[in-house]
Amino acid sequence: MSKKTDSAEAFVTEITPRSEDFSRWYLDVVRRAELADYSPVKGCMVIRPYGYAIWELIQQALDRRFKDTGHVNAYFPLFIPESLLKKEAEHVEGFAPQVAYVTHGGGEELDEKLVVRPTSEAIIGTMYGKWIQSWRDLPILINQWANVVRWEKVTRPFLRTTEFLWQEGHTAHETEAEAEEETLKILALYKEMVETELAMPVVTGRKSESERFAGALRTYSIEALMGDCRALQAGTSHNLGQNFAKAFDITFQARDKSVQHVWGTSWGVSTRLVGAVIMTHGDDSGLVLPPRVAPYQAVIVPIPRGNWQETVLPKARELRDALARGGIRVTLDDRDAYTPGWKFAEWELRGVPLRLEIGPKDIEKSSVLVARRDTRQKLPVSLDGLVEHIRHLLDDVQRTLFDRAVKFRDDHTRRLSTYDEFKAAMEGRPGFVIAPWCGSADCEAQIKAETQATIRNMPLDAPRPSGRCIRCDRPAIAEAWFAKAYSPAPASVCECLSARRAAA
Ligand SMILES: [Zn+2]
Repeated sequence: MSKKTDSAEAFVTEITPRSEDFSRWYLDVVRRAELADYSPVKGCMVIRPYGYAIWELIQQALDRRFKDTGHVNAYFPLFIPESLLKKEAEHVEGFAPQVAYVTHGGGEELDEKLVVRPTSEAIIGTMYGKWIQSWRDLPILINQWANVVRWEKVTRPFLRTTEFLWQEGHTAHETEAEAEEETLKILALYKEMVETELAMPVVTGRKSESERFAGALRTYSIEALMGDCRALQAGTSHNLGQNFAKAFDITFQARDKSVQHVWGTSWGVSTRLVGAVIMTHGDDSGLVLPPRVAPYQAVIVPIPRGNWQETVLPKARELRDALARGGIRVTLDDRDAYTPGWKFAEWELRGVPLRLEIGPKDIEKSSVLVARRDTRQKLPVSLDGLVEHIRHLLDDVQRTLFDRAVKFRDDHTRRLSTYDEFKAAMEGRPGFVIAPWCGSADCEAQIKAETQATIRNMPLDAPRPSGRCIRCDRPAIAEAWFAKAYSPAPASVCECLSARRAAA
């Protein structure tokens, strides 16, 4: 923090109110909460320690789950020889506008240009072609934590940047059924992780044909509703079929001795999830972090009265140590150049779930005053059994944020049956609209052109619709969830290919 003031108000007014301009609010929060900063490289962000700590917690939560389901991590090169990328025609064509090349190295022009990976199917597929000979080598269940580069013209911290961090899973299987099982297993894993750790409810479902990764059999996604009622694609999982296996010659001798191509999947989520947390839970005072991904779950602010440095401060340190020993991520704000009011506003802005205030009077009463970031309730808590109490409160904050997000999503989800109603609703930003759809890509494109709404996905467990398409009145094939959305997540190869197709 660069300046000192007694006015907590002044601090907070540096953030544009969420209701006034959501987009400005988002950028203000990212900057003032010190999550990320712009860099000297256009389109690339610097993830600052506080933002990176959130990503690390997301990473750990995912990595645990990947390993629990039999996946292992590996690392493949940042550079891909251009000829490899070209092996899959649609792949190279889809990425062409976004690809960065290395043409020189060691002071010499390279014989072959190197692509800075936009995704790793080409290099991983090439290696799988070498590693897999027999059905005994299958399945291969590899995940990679990496950075990727996609040259972007319009960027926004965490949501879309030229370089971003992600994980990309790439698996190879003996049968189509196994690949489909893996694709859906990961989709369910993403949903469970995002709902449990980020307190962010998502709709899981299948993408429409036009949003499907070209060459894949099926693409699935998790979709969330942000605080401005726009939908955000938060992750994707693809059943790739045998497309990449054919392009990269990934074959194996099957149990019946025949030579077959493997069945593949790929799946990813990225640092975009940090943006999703900000936009799902944040308010006019700034960030609101779910405890499970909060770098600090609690902050202790000593109240300076009398000779507080001899009385209050030692007690505050004792509490900090006790909480830390109890497994709670806690920090003690003992800076004496700032007033408590300033500190309260700053930690609110930074979204810390619980604030513990302790002064001479609290010590007399053997208690602390705990303020919740989510409800802004303040309650005295006895120092007796404090760790246990704080744990319960953190669980309660986590649950409250999830319940609140579910309620917001449900309050902004409706079912419509006429196109007039649909168009009227989409003049504003209604959130999700569930409507029957005929399955035609032309009809989908017309809906988008006329209303800006896109099909986010079609939930797997939805009953088969008996009605007629919301727009064209032909028999419906699915219940689709429509919304105005943030441009698709840079979370998988599929968006780039659909962008190519949309442009064609
Ligand atoms: Zn239709």
